[in-house]
Amino acid sequence: MIAEFASPDSEAALMALLATKADPGLIAGGTDLLIASGNLPAAQVVVDLGHISSFRQVKLAEDALFVGAGVTVAAIARDPLIARHCPVLGQAAVNFGSVQIRNRATIGGNVANGSPAADLPPALVAARAEAVLRAPEGETSLPVADLLSRRPIVGRRQVIVGFRLPLGDGSGIGAFVKLGRRQEPTISRLTLAAAGPRGALRLVAGAIGPAPRRLAGAEAALNAGADGFLPALEDDVLAAIPGRASAAYKSRAIRALGLDLLDRITKASEDAE
Ligand SMILES: Cc1cc2nc3c(=O)[nH]c(=O)nc-3n(C[C@H](O)[C@H](O)[C@H](O)COP(=O)(O)OP(=O)(O)OC[C@H]3O[C@@H](n4cnc5c(N)ncnc54)[C@H](O)[C@@H]3O)c2cc1C
Repeated sequence: MIAEFASPDSEAALMALLATKADPGLIAGGTDLLIASGNLPAAQVVVDLGHISSFRQVKLAEDALFVGAGVTVAAIARDPLIARHCPVLGQAAVNFGSVQIRNRATIGGNVANGSPAADLPPALVAARAEAVLRAPEGETSLPVADLLSRRPIVGRRQVIVGFRLPLGDGSGIGAFVKLGRRQEPTISRLTLAAAGPRGALRLVAGAIGPAPRRLAGAEAALNAGADGFLPALEDDVLAAIPGRASAAYKSRAIRALGLDLLDRITKASEDAE
């Protein structure tokens, strides 16, 4: 039973509200929260984050691109700044859900929800993104990789304000590929995100553990040249999912996804020249 509903229109109003509530329930696009009625916040107050304009900003700062937590997946997919400075995130957004879901789902909700199969976190980790969090007590920021290892991911009166994507190491090269059970919108079974300068790409897999996982062996092989990449990728992924059945099928699927990733990286490298 929801006691109260609030829709603050600024970060200041949100913080003032949170300072007075012990048990707020935050809602952004509602695509995770509302499909499972059991997840509806049994909160003292349900706080709609959808009217805070600063949450919907994508802006360039001196050394980082800032993406507000309320930016929708559809907006990420078409944003020219993201395409230029963090293409791995833009590609992850293009591969995400259906048109309707992309129009409502936010990046903040995708991270805060903490699903192992979520598509944007591997891209954010590959891009070395930092999450910016605010609470009435103050602001803090930490790498998305660290945020995702916490439980709960977001504290009770904490809000993800946005994400800082560092510029300056040539993260302009980026690629994201996704494997699911079907071509249509689907839950990811394996995602691969690569970002960084040529020869020093960071390679991160999603959906094979509780949080995105950097694939050290495959990353080294990728950066040494394409030759040993596919076997190294297969080794790293299968090592992360040792108990799962149908490994023969999986080996082929992992290598095929690896080839897709190589194609995208090659194209991104050519475009960058
Ligand atoms: C049909 C369908 C297809 C989908 N396809 C995909 C897909 O392909 N890939 C994928 O990754 N996901 C997919 N999803 C899952 C979902 O759409 C995403 O996780 C989405 O990004 C969640 O964002 P939201 O704004 O809707 O979050 P909400 O549902 O509003 O909130 C989710 C959780 O995050 C918290 N939260 C939201 N914003 C903040 C914030 N700023 N600070 C702190 N906490 C916050 C809420 O309190 C809640 O606990 C799909 C869902 C459906 C129903």
